[in-house]
Amino acid sequence: MSALVGVLGLQGGVSEHIELLQDLGVNTCWVRTPSDLLGADGVRLDAIVLPGGESSVMDRLLRTFELFEPLKQVISDGLPTLGTCAGLILLARTVLDPAPGQRSLGVLDATVRRNAFGSQVDSAEVGLETADGPVKVAFIRAPQVVEVGPEVEVIARRGEAIVGVRSGAITGLAFHPEVTGEPRFHQRLLAEAGFGRLSNAG
Ligand code: GLN
Repeated sequence: MSALVGVLGLQGGVSEHIELLQDLGVNTCWVRTPSDLLGADGVRLDAIVLPGGESSVMDRLLRTFELFEPLKQVISDGLPTLGTCAGLILLARTVLDPAPGQRSLGVLDATVRRNAFGSQVDSAEVGLETADGPVKVAFIRAPQVVEVGPEVEVIARRGEAIVGVRSGAITGLAFHPEVTGEPRFHQRLLAEAGFGRLSNAG
């Protein structure tokens, strides 16, 4: 049986994640309503991706579509989750430089500063060494992780800045692997969901 991976599809760069996941041979769906997330017997997904975009808009839409609490619940209950850029911001316990009224799901014990690398013109493709091996990825108005809790593993840095973290089945990345077609974080997500092998630097 193939995995079913949802991509939060309220706003932002959804289709790149869908394409990358489909290239890895898994079934995908957009998550826009609570019933995309939950069936009669509980969560219907094997894993979920929170894409990049604008975290304050996603936060607002999550509440409008009554997805905020169900999403927080399934991730807290252990659904393997990959958040990229705005997705990382959504996951974080604390957000620095938030938009007015912006909230986050608070399921990842980390403090994240929005737009920490400057504005859109500072966006760049960058090679990084990570705990999952060397990657080439895109930074787009990227956040930075400025503090992590004791359970959180740092998996990537750009210079001194923490740009990738993992805690249990949650991975948060300040960058976009899907923009450069870098598959290893999605492969790792599938492995967390029981579809594939869990290995470092594999
Ligand atoms: N700066 C955006 C935010 O605060 C994130 C940018 C991105 O996801 N590429 O949500």
